[in-house]
Amino acid sequence: MHLVFLGPPACGKGTQSKILGDKFNYYHLSTGDLMRKEVNSGSILGERINQTLNKGILCPSEIVNELVKKDIENHKQMSILFDGYPRKIDQAIFLESALENSVGKLKNVFYFDVEPSELLQRILNRINCRACGSVYNLQTNPPKEEGVCDNCGSKELMRRGDDNEEILKNRIQSFYEETNPLKDFYLERGILTVVDARAPVEIVTKQILNAL
Ligand SMILES: [Zn+2]
Repeated sequence: MHLVFLGPPACGKGTQSKILGDKFNYYHLSTGDLMRKEVNSGSILGERINQTLNKGILCPSEIVNELVKKDIENHKQMSILFDGYPRKIDQAIFLESALENSVGKLKNVFYFDVEPSELLQRILNRINCRACGSVYNLQTNPPKEEGVCDNCGSKELMRRGDDNEEILKNRIQSFYEETNPLKDFYLERGILTVVDARAPVEIVTKQILNAL
């Protein structure tokens, strides 16, 4: 059974994906990671993706769908946690058919509800561990020792390259224009759970566990 985490940038879904993924052995399918990997590979597709990311606009569905489909096929035996996908109705429809043709249906879609005004502040305070991918927030969830990753001990904690203010504003706006309609889409299917994502990390995890 598969899950989707739906929410604007910096709503905390990446952190929860990691927690849930470790706890239940979900495969964490992050389209952000898939796209970054493709960009770093230097492929022509990667170059196209890079151009859209630099503008803060959503990557065209046919590109993301292809990346996701391949990744689903590579992890056929696992339950998958989709983080950052689908972003639009046409992607949600694509995902339904991709899953029907492989492993199983979506069990739950979690919508991470946060005030839009809070998001930019959160993102600007966010740092990632380059070694293991752990995410911290200097205000709400700092590493125990300053500048050192709790998880792996690496000292390479830094802000992500795409975290500049203009791009972020565009990404947040894209979410509310293009992704928010998915709430109704999944509500109609009876699998939507709205999570209060302003709560501390542990409380958000509890809300999710209660609904599983
Ligand atoms: Zn680390």
